[in-house]
Amino acid sequence: CWARIRARLRDEVGEVEYRTWLRQMTLQGIDGDEAVILLPTRFLRDWVNSHYGDRLRVLWQSEDAAIRRVEIRVAQAAMPEPVTADGFPAAPRPEAPGLAESLAPPLRAPEPRVSDQRSDWVVPLEARFTFDTFVVGKPNEFAHACARRVAERPNSPGFNPLFLYGGVGLGKTHLMHAIAWAIRESDTARTVAYMSAEKFMYRFIAALRSQSTMEFKETLRAVDVLMIDDLQFLIGKDNTQEEFFHTFNALVDQGKQIVVSSDKPPSDLAGIEDRLRTRLGCGMVADLHATTYELRLSILQAKAAAAQVLVPPKVMELLATKITSNVRELEGALNRLVAHANLFGRPITVDSAHEVLHDVLRAHEKRVSIEEIQRKVAEHYNLRLTDMVSARRARNVARPRQVAMYLAKQLTQRSLPEIGRRFGNRDHTTVMHAVSRVSELITQDAAFAEDVALLRKMLET
Ligand code: ADP
Ligand code: MG
Repeated sequence: CWARIRARLRDEVGEVEYRTWLRQMTLQGIDGDEAVILLPTRFLRDWVNSHYGDRLRVLWQSEDAAIRRVEIRVAQAAMPEPVTADGFPAAPRPEAPGLAESLAPPLRAPEPRVSDQRSDWVVPLEARFTFDTFVVGKPNEFAHACARRVAERPNSPGFNPLFLYGGVGLGKTHLMHAIAWAIRESDTARTVAYMSAEKFMYRFIAALRSQSTMEFKETLRAVDVLMIDDLQFLIGKDNTQEEFFHTFNALVDQGKQIVVSSDKPPSDLAGIEDRLRTRLGCGMVADLHATTYELRLSILQAKAAAAQVLVPPKVMELLATKITSNVRELEGALNRLVAHANLFGRPITVDSAHEVLHDVLRAHEKRVSIEEIQRKVAEHYNLRLTDMVSARRARNVARPRQVAMYLAKQLTQRSLPEIGRRFGNRDHTTVMHAVSRVSELITQDAAFAEDVALLRKMLET
């Protein structure tokens, strides 16, 4: 009965998924109306429970109506998680469930495109992260060209290692996966191992624990291309660094390609041993710069086209102007708009974008300070900064001061009393009066309105 349930589940979810998540299930036994299934790690148990628990229950019921509940448990007592430090246990504990195993399942759903039966070391690649979907612009063209070069000709002189660095969400992981896809496609016999530095460390620790470091070394040294993402994770992890250094040397000596990414250039990796830093920097070092408006716009256009949704140019301009931090957030905003439009069957418009992305846009609003407003306004009207806070009531001073108060109300989150205080300890009613007076003038005097709009624009960009 258990064998049949497994077989049915395997048919339903497919071989890849089954092997990734479900293969290690064992039946502990039947206890009254409850079937107890074991998995080796807490991580797997939770994953299987949340993703396949209901299905298991249904399948079981259909095979054996007497079973009312399916309980999924961890096979052995879970060991404490050695997550933070590069600490090693005093004695090897081969009986403990391997940490490597508990981390082995990929966080993303396995992709059918992955053909990584060759080695357990290969972490599934994200199907979307290819060269085709990578949008090239000024800030990333150099890194992109280097990545292409390495993908076409691994171990080209001067390109080994390839060290990619840049801020969060600028495409480092995307480029690394793209290299891996391209190499695998051009030569299926080549083994490309991609993993985060964090995973490298966990695997190393697990190998030490289970006294299988020889196997660890051999497996790693047999790959043709080794890619380690987010190397900065190894800062301060001396033992893992040391191991990585040896792996690195062994591979480079054999003419194997190494690709590494980090959030900083090798020279800034304080806490990484000098000799490793030196070796990391002796190939090609390429950085991904912060995006420009043009690149953000091209990325949005590409993503909208790929998703086959109609996004008005004005909406793309809005997103590209406001969400400047990183591509991941830009993508997230677009996805939200698309999901919202699909859900309600309404087209995407500037208004709906403001509504749906209210929180995101607000979080990205440029923070303008009251001082900045006072300075810009004083400058604009040829006044001194002190005039903004003085008691002078002359019209040529009082009106600009009102404009500054109005802008402070519009562009900052400050309350009326707070604004009053910052304008020479004035009362909140004074600020209120200034705001309504300026609003009124804007509707009456076109030149004045233009003036205020200009100031606003200068402060906002
Ligand atoms: P990093 O590893 O540098 O933190 P990622 O590679 O994970 O960043 O990129 C974050 C997201 O932004 C991914 O979904 C990626 O596809 C997307 N992205 C980043 N740069 C580009 C680009 N130039 N073209 C298309 N998508 C990009
Ligand atoms: Mg990354």
